Amino acid sequence: MAKLVILGTSHAVPDENHENTHLAVVGDSRMVLIDGSGNPQVRMKKAGLDDERLTDIIMTHLHPDHVSGIPLLLMGMGLSRRERPLNVFAIEHCMEPMKKMLEWYEWDTWHFFPVHFHTLPEEDLHLVIDCDEFRLLTSPVKHFIPTIGVRVEFKKTGKVFAYSCDTAPTPSLIPLAKDADIFVHEAAGASVGHSSAAQAGEIAAQANAKSLYLIHYPTGGYNYQKLAEEAQATYGKPVIITEDFMEIDLS
Ligand SMILES: [Zn+2]
Repeated sequence: MAKLVILGTSHAVPDENHENTHLAVVGDSRMVLIDGSGNPQVRMKKAGLDDERLTDIIMTHLHPDHVSGIPLLLMGMGLSRRERPLNVFAIEHCMEPMKKMLEWYEWDTWHFFPVHFHTLPEEDLHLVIDCDEFRLLTSPVKHFIPTIGVRVEFKKTGKVFAYSCDTAPTPSLIPLAKDADIFVHEAAGASVGHSSAAQAGEIAAQANAKSLYLIHYPTGGYNYQKLAEEAQATYGKPVIITEDFMEIDLS
């Protein structure tokens, strides 16, 4: 059974109920972590996910609210005597500084298990993972720094999950989210490199997404009903506000 597990929902300023945005795609044979802030090992544990099953990490961009927890996760898994190899995928802008950061942490003294780094090209619908169960593709989106969104296509069921990541409205989102059953879009608010809920709704409608979930939204007592209504007005269908530890069926 495949599922999406929401490990955090907040924009860059989290609160006690909303960790920074990161997600896990949990399949039968592969488990993919998309970003990791805070301490992802603790978040996975709290969500009932065994980090020993983690096969792949996708780092979407080099902002600390997305990837600052990755060194901590690698350290925690190493010290937990993990032996299973792990793939780490990112575009060069994120990958090179992350590798340097791991060197500064002298990670060769604590990671112990094989980590394979794969630098991704910044091209639309680039095929990153092709396994028996699903295909995972990435496309550049429009943030302040180079950033990728993610699309996962399940082979047996035809089910599609898409994630905008941090982005302003941009044409590359349409093929990324085309006919997606589950489209998770950010709603940090209209500004350079981000989108409002209404803009997320517009993109979801243009992509013919079958459902829209908002994530990476403002915290601190924000009016979530208003956020959903703003997106519904442009999307034309009900919109769901993601919550930390929400599980969404992908089977
Ligand atoms: Zn960002």
